[in-house]
Amino acid sequence: MAAPTFQKLTPPTKGTRVTVDANGTWKVPDDPIVCLLRGDGIGRDVGAVPGITACAVRALDAAVERAYKGKRKIHWFDVHAGDVARELYCPQVKDEQVGSLSEDEQRKLYLPDDTLRAFEYFAVGLKGPLTTPIGGGFRSINVYLRIRFDLYACVRPVRYFRGVEAPNKRADKVNMVIFRENTEDVYCGIEFKSGSDKAKKLLALLKEMGYNVLPSSGLGIKPMSPEGTKRLVRMALRYAIDKKLPSVTLMHKGNIMKFTEGAFKDWGYEVAVQEFRDRVVTEAELTAAGGKKPADKVLVNDRIADSMFQQIQLRPDEYSVVATPNLNGDYLSDAAAALTGGLGLAAGANIGDWAAMFEATHGTAPKYTGKNAANPGAVLLSGALLLEHLGWTEAARLVTRGVEATFAESEDTAKKGPGGKLYVTYDIARQFAGYCAEAGATSSEFADRIVYHLNRA
Ligand code: NAD
Repeated sequence: MAAPTFQKLTPPTKGTRVTVDANGTWKVPDDPIVCLLRGDGIGRDVGAVPGITACAVRALDAAVERAYKGKRKIHWFDVHAGDVARELYCPQVKDEQVGSLSEDEQRKLYLPDDTLRAFEYFAVGLKGPLTTPIGGGFRSINVYLRIRFDLYACVRPVRYFRGVEAPNKRADKVNMVIFRENTEDVYCGIEFKSGSDKAKKLLALLKEMGYNVLPSSGLGIKPMSPEGTKRLVRMALRYAIDKKLPSVTLMHKGNIMKFTEGAFKDWGYEVAVQEFRDRVVTEAELTAAGGKKPADKVLVNDRIADSMFQQIQLRPDEYSVVATPNLNGDYLSDAAAALTGGLGLAAGANIGDWAAMFEATHGTAPKYTGKNAANPGAVLLSGALLLEHLGWTEAARLVTRGVEATFAESEDTAKKGPGGKLYVTYDIARQFAGYCAEAGATSSEFADRIVYHLNRA
């Protein structure tokens, strides 16, 4: 692919592009160029005040430097989306004019062609939170990126950090990565409004096929394919095998919806035994043999969706990697993150075969814009996922250790009583007995402390 030209962007003068070869193998140089979307609200820098994305980048660079001593380095390429992009590319367009623009013109306001070209060419990005666009036509930057670049897996690691107040007694046992299908199921669902002509046509067809549905019903179709399911489960299995994790659980509602949810489970098992036969053992095989799981194999099992919500609360340590269709995954990711308490810590990624975008899952928290107060943890941990994706596991581990040490240290300080110096931001500080939000550190202090700890790890 020829290098793109840009209207308003200047790519880094140093660095090399990450590519994916014809076999789907990611080729990562020691000096990769990574697109950086700082984001809106708390994501953006305001004058000299850094946003959470800048704070996270500082800690990521420090981890890479510490792990590889100059041999490896990320070259960040600032590209734009959201309000920041609109201010830069289309400052003349007024809010009241947006509604009269076509959907694609609205898209260009918030997601300029420059940004799409950059991401298409450089393949990897880290993204801060973005304001949801105003106007009717173009609604979601995230959805657009996902569809345009076929980012079919939404990956959400959920784990507990000591020092973060969590509502669940067993939160310290939560350590799982959820792979949620990102392109099918309700995300490409087709709906027919009650009483509409199309609904009536479909009801007539259903009647012809022998199904009696109340004529006033609204109707919905949620397509799920073997191709869509298998590539998602394949990614989850590869992840578990690479990271030597104990299990992959297929979460579904197949007892009720046999040809979509139930098929997800069947196709998932098919991928496991047909493509990874010598690396996996199924729960049924284990039960039949009456044996213990061999240490070098990944256990593949399945759970009904409703039971899974109980399981993650009652026996979280039994779940390691979860692969799930879109809607189940939507619910499960947020429920699992809530178990461990930290909204400012929920990292995520949208990954496809040719591109990957890493992003915090929280929003722009506009009232903290320019205050150097918000928690950079989620962007930073999303960056750690990016490092893992590049294969830079040593640096990713250092980031995690830095975060762990910073939380643990603040908890230890708080336990000694009020008044101690905390290095965590307001959202975590206010959870400690005798402390309030004002006792929190700034975003930069928090990032600096993480750097301090990762340099001692
Ligand atoms: P939000 O996540 O911005 O805020 C919810 C609450 O969490 C607020 O009380 C906020 O102060 C706090 N919070 C969020 N992130 C924090 C952090 N890093 N550190 C400390 N506190 C934090 O959700 P919202 O208020 O519903 O949405 C605000 C804007 O963000 C909207 O425009 C929304 O559409 C957008 N949004 C974007 C994304 C994304 O880009 N992925 C996700 C969700 C919401």
